[in-house]
Amino acid sequence: GSADLECDVLVLGAGPGGYSAAFRAADLGLSVVIVERYPTLGGVCLNVGCIPSKALLHVAAVIDEVQHFADIGVHFGTPKVELDKLRKHKEKVIGKLTGGLTMMAKARKVTVVRGYGSFVDAHHVKVELTEGPAQAKTGASKTVRFKNAIIAAGSQAVRLPFMPDDPRIVDSTGALELKSVPKKMLVLGGGIIGLEMGTVYSTLGTRLDVVEMLDGLMQGADRDLVKIWQKMNAHRYDNIYLKTKTVAVEAKPDGLWVTFEGEGAPKTPQRYDMILQSVGRSPNGRKIGAEQAGVVVSDRGFISVDKQMRTNVPHILAIGDIVGQPMLAHKAVHEGHVAAEVCAGHKAFFDAKVIPSVAYTDPEVAWVGETEDSLKAAGRKFKKGLFPWAASGRAIANGRDEGFTKLLFDEDSGRIIGGGIVGTHAGDLIGEICLAIEMGADSVDIGKTIHPHPTLGESVGLAAEAADGHCTDLP
Ligand code: FAD
Repeated sequence: GSADLECDVLVLGAGPGGYSAAFRAADLGLSVVIVERYPTLGGVCLNVGCIPSKALLHVAAVIDEVQHFADIGVHFGTPKVELDKLRKHKEKVIGKLTGGLTMMAKARKVTVVRGYGSFVDAHHVKVELTEGPAQAKTGASKTVRFKNAIIAAGSQAVRLPFMPDDPRIVDSTGALELKSVPKKMLVLGGGIIGLEMGTVYSTLGTRLDVVEMLDGLMQGADRDLVKIWQKMNAHRYDNIYLKTKTVAVEAKPDGLWVTFEGEGAPKTPQRYDMILQSVGRSPNGRKIGAEQAGVVVSDRGFISVDKQMRTNVPHILAIGDIVGQPMLAHKAVHEGHVAAEVCAGHKAFFDAKVIPSVAYTDPEVAWVGETEDSLKAAGRKFKKGLFPWAASGRAIANGRDEGFTKLLFDEDSGRIIGGGIVGTHAGDLIGEICLAIEMGADSVDIGKTIHPHPTLGESVGLAAEAADGHCTDLP
């Protein structure tokens, strides 16, 4: 058919997966069109995810630190938060990054088409153009003809079916708007996103309850890490309801009344000023006309891909949240690079051994690869090295020695296969363990690597030494 635009690669969605794919494809000499319905590039991660949440978590961490300082005789007075200014700061952080992406797109001559994209067939996408912050449709459309397409349409927050329509019930996007600080909030779902937003609101003065269907918070992490987090965060939570389901919510003028069911559930409905729904994210696969192009989408909206990120239609690829768990920005970026290279004819494959997870709470919890739980479940023999931060000079000097660093090694090969860290800056420290796993390092490689003293990073080397029974003589 006829087309308004033609390109080698059409990228649908400008999140971390989409922009990484688009930029890499352009760098490899391909002509690229990126279709995005939002006014800015960056997707969920930059606009309503990773970045704004971290901007607010940083502020929360500083406020909490100021309170620790009072205990050691340094007084800053009680923090006073001006929500309007804080919100503007967050917008500015987002603006810097999304603006940077726009410039990078221009520099690479990547064409950005603003609107809702939908496949018409296996070589055309029709874009209904949008404008303004509310993504209003203009009535106009453009058709783009492509040789290859990369689907990077991401995911959105799951909404429980029984939830009433009420402005006091928000998902992470609504919570990041920071409209007000409620007295009492229910965090519905005890995963990373809920606990991060809970941290922000709690520091601003909100009392929290959290409800989780499974038997523990932060699923996927070893329980010894979570236990430290829980001890340090007990003061934020009035109740932690585990193995408990939320079955009904009634919106009344005096509050949101929530009925629970399960082991630890309260018998009567509980009242909240705000509910944060953080029960997971659902992929956008069923909203992009994929069937018109012959691309198979699962009932839940996921698109299956092979190691080259190709869907069942080989010239149409998919990356990021839409291809499955873990739904993380750093996974999307690496998949995006592979997809772009495949479009350029390279023999590229996504073959990362591991993908790290981080909860940017206070303290942070980070883990990668195998966990003690996963190894025990698989009946696999392993060697463990644990270094408690109570023996780290830097952690003690920082007044934050509650954490620890743990490394797990395969007993037969001696190679590192997993690790976990709980403590301040754990997310920044986990990268070294990721590298060690990718390189197939063993405990001697890590233990004999000289780390700078005194740092929290030293704890990685010392945990490796501990795995070989060497006791540390470095405080
Ligand atoms: P997305 O970022 O979802 O982008 C998809 C884009 O496609 C969107 O911009 C959307 O508008 C566009 N789009 C969809 N359909 C169409 C269409 N038909 N036409 C045009 N455009 C379309 N991950 C981390 O790694 N670290 C974190 O700290 C972290 N924190 C998070 C905090 C929160 C509150 C949330 C919600 C998520 C967080 N994540 C984090 C997850 C991370 O945001 C996602 O994994 C990541 O954004 C996925 O990237 P993506 O490219 O697959 O898609």
